[in-house]
Amino acid sequence: MNLRVLGCHGGELPGCRSTCFLVDGTLALDAGALTATLDLPSLASVDQIVLTHSHFDHVKDLPLLSDLVVGWRKTPITIWASHACIQTLRDNMFNGSLWPDFTRLPSVDSPVFQLRSFSPGDTFQAGAYTVRSVLVSHPVESCGFVIERAGTALGISGDTGPTQKLWELLNQTPNLKALLLETSFPDELQDLADISGHLTPRTLRGELGKFRRNGADVLLYHLKPAFVAELKRQVAGLPVKVLELGQSFEL
Ligand SMILES: [Zn+2]
Ligand SMILES: [Zn+2]
Repeated sequence: MNLRVLGCHGGELPGCRSTCFLVDGTLALDAGALTATLDLPSLASVDQIVLTHSHFDHVKDLPLLSDLVVGWRKTPITIWASHACIQTLRDNMFNGSLWPDFTRLPSVDSPVFQLRSFSPGDTFQAGAYTVRSVLVSHPVESCGFVIERAGTALGISGDTGPTQKLWELLNQTPNLKALLLETSFPDELQDLADISGHLTPRTLRGELGKFRRNGADVLLYHLKPAFVAELKRQVAGLPVKVLELGQSFEL
């Protein structure tokens, strides 16, 4: 399983891109950095997009992507998201007002996007990948996932504060090779992190204590761009790696 880091920050600035990971060139986890990162043939090769939740930094490239790949694909791109997230996309994004409804364009029979919803806790098949979902702790419905193919599993936390079920799921996954784990704000902003459902290095430590990692790498993402340097200082010494844009991993 190849993992490419297209975006690993909780926002954008020069040198920082919003959350987006590409698995084997065909499955995207979140859509915060597709169109500014991939060329058109690579964008057209993305068959499945699995969304953690509806917040803007995770879905922002969907409208631009839909517009770009019209005429470049014969089949729809499948977007997987929880029921609440899909409803938010229908109501607020592909509503014919903010953006055309590319779930019905260029034709109802052959649209650019097909939306597939699930309940947090469900397992579903996204192309060649088995995806297990779990509800995490965030102000909107947000999911973590374990993505598995051919005996290799990758975890992603989604945006979350301290949580429980995610760790139970990960601890039950013996072939987990890596976990993408959010950490957003420095310890000084603990109150903001708590109210907005995010981790700081302090709460990250507590979360790592729930994880029987079994050799899996813990890869940090969703660092808020304004605090990257401070966060790197605060996690130094913890058994984690801070992701950098453009990195690629063979799992
Ligand atoms: Zn976010
Ligand atoms: Zn969020």
